[in-house]
Amino acid sequence: MTEEQIAATPPGGDAAAPAVQHLALPNLLDMPLADMPLPPGEPAYRRDQLIDWLYAKSTSDFDRMTNLPPVMRGWLEEAYVADPFTATRRFPSRDGSVRYLFTLRDGKQTEAVYMPYAGRSTVCVSSMVGCPAGCAFCATGAMGFGRNLSRGEIVGQLLAVARHEKVAARELRNVVLMGMGEALLNYEGALAAIRTLLDPRALDMSARRITLSTVGLPSRMRRLAEEGLPLVLAVSLHAPDDETRRRIIPTALANPVAEIVDAMRYWQERGGRRVSIEYTLLAGVNDSDSQAADLARVLGDVHVHVNLIPFNPWHGSGFAQSSRARTESFKAKLHEKGMSVSVRFSRGRDAGGACGQLALKRGAAA
Ligand code: SF4
Repeated sequence: MTEEQIAATPPGGDAAAPAVQHLALPNLLDMPLADMPLPPGEPAYRRDQLIDWLYAKSTSDFDRMTNLPPVMRGWLEEAYVADPFTATRRFPSRDGSVRYLFTLRDGKQTEAVYMPYAGRSTVCVSSMVGCPAGCAFCATGAMGFGRNLSRGEIVGQLLAVARHEKVAARELRNVVLMGMGEALLNYEGALAAIRTLLDPRALDMSARRITLSTVGLPSRMRRLAEEGLPLVLAVSLHAPDDETRRRIIPTALANPVAEIVDAMRYWQERGGRRVSIEYTLLAGVNDSDSQAADLARVLGDVHVHVNLIPFNPWHGSGFAQSSRARTESFKAKLHEKGMSVSVRFSRGRDAGGACGQLALKRGAAA
């Protein structure tokens, strides 16, 4: 499937298969706030009340929207839904994070991960069912592509986490689009979701607390730069040279490292902030000191922070985690070259929720 076909895939169907019929009623979370429906004759402030219930109060049950007139609640109940999911399963990890498995209204499934930290809880959300990018070290990539998620299906993950964790949705201050999927291949869906997260009437998030991760698609990175949103851009580079990159990331065939780095420069010229470089360390593949030196050289003048991610093994991947000594040596080499760098240990590993592990794994839910 080409980049254009994937980007054009409507929620509910993929470009290679007949569109799946949506039997469900329209989801209010899929609508821009200005289009939120009102029954005839209801004053405009009822729309604000409805928006407040849906987002700030993360309520999907119309019966609980007690300041709306019963007649309006009945009207909404008949014509709309406010929850994109028919089932939610929760997989807590020993480290306090929780993996969520959501069943969408067409029966497909996707995942999110809740990571509670004091004062800065984070939700990692998916932008797709599966992923077409097919990175060799990623369990999601091995699943293949299901479909793009809609605005409501992306924002709905955060709202569902808030409900289940019994926290106010607005207290979930950090969102990372790093779950299943390549967000820039679902450009419309991801951007619509981000605009809802930012809207003061909805979740009133700061763009600086929203991270969008990409495998490195230069034309779409440039398009995102044109949006003028002060998001955090995370680029999954994983290798400093095209040859190594092409072994582990199929999209690298069409997107050389030099063009990705140029797109990062463009991002910063257009006012974008420091770029996060995501680099999963794979033993014997991309973790040598000379590759660390190459990484520092190719990133050159771009303002970046490098996140080194120890590989989270999954059955059948064919890759192994770099040793701690190798990881430290790689990090030290980057330091020596003047790079800002840290090692990011993923959370939720025992619950199948760590970076690169999301693959709709079942098991004991709570
Ligand atoms: Fe897709 Fe990201 Fe996995 Fe690559 S690493 S296959 S872009 S989800």
